[in-house]
Amino acid sequence: AGGQPEVLQASGVLMQFGGLKALNNVDLTVRRGTIHGLIGPNGSGKSTMMNVLTGIYVPTAGAISFGGRSLVGRTSSDIALSGIARTFQNVQLFGEMTAQQNVQVGLHHTFRSNLFDVAVHTPRYKRESAAAANRALGLLKFVGLEAFAAEEARNLPYGKQRLLEIARALALDPQLLLLDEPAAGLTAPDIKELIAIIRKIREHGVTVILIEHHMDVVMSMCDTVSVLDFGQKIAEGEPAAVQADAKVIEAYLGG
Ligand code: ADP
Ligand code: MG
Repeated sequence: AGGQPEVLQASGVLMQFGGLKALNNVDLTVRRGTIHGLIGPNGSGKSTMMNVLTGIYVPTAGAISFGGRSLVGRTSSDIALSGIARTFQNVQLFGEMTAQQNVQVGLHHTFRSNLFDVAVHTPRYKRESAAAANRALGLLKFVGLEAFAAEEARNLPYGKQRLLEIARALALDPQLLLLDEPAAGLTAPDIKELIAIIRKIREHGVTVILIEHHMDVVMSMCDTVSVLDFGQKIAEGEPAAVQADAKVIEAYLGG
């Protein structure tokens, strides 16, 4: 993995909330085609890093480039359209919409219909809607949810809701997918299914940044792991080496 070109590079990222440095001079290089783990105790800055990478927060200082372009100061939707998709630590679905509709929401960027097309349901709009419906079904199938297509998202079991979020993120056809604790609250069989899906996503050429606190998941899946503690990167490398690192053990025991 070390030889792969980098898809994302962050350097010197500082994210200050008042007096708190949620991220303090963090460097991160993510190589194409890898699953890159981001771990650390609660409150160490993992979700903040994701929020900075996806334009939800503008870093106080630092540089971030994706595919050679700077991301700093760009809007979340611009960043999403440029190829970075994500899921959130807490499920964020449209509960009263069906599973399929939730995925189709993620596909609107592919539409070329203008307001007129939409308003009077021109052939172009109908064609695009039909294509989006098909693609949404394909994505549901990819994550094993085709049987739930017509079900309201809020009625899906929790583990399936998390997979639905992943399907919706994939609708953006991302180069880079950020997953914030996708296994949190899942049962062991659900976690196995999730792992298989994340591997399949990577096989399709999508690079993944995975925030995860289940160590077995991190260790079995990630090519590289970066460890945050109090907003600073304290270790990085292959999973086995990181797990044996004295600073990492101390951070987890101390926290
Ligand atoms: P993690 O995801 O590693 O558990 P977070 O990135 O959520 O940690 O939080 C890192 C630190 O930043 C915490 O101390 C948290 O309270 C703080 N923090 C995160 N977001 C904000 C915010 N919007 N305003 C103030 N403090 C925040
Ligand atoms: Mg978090």
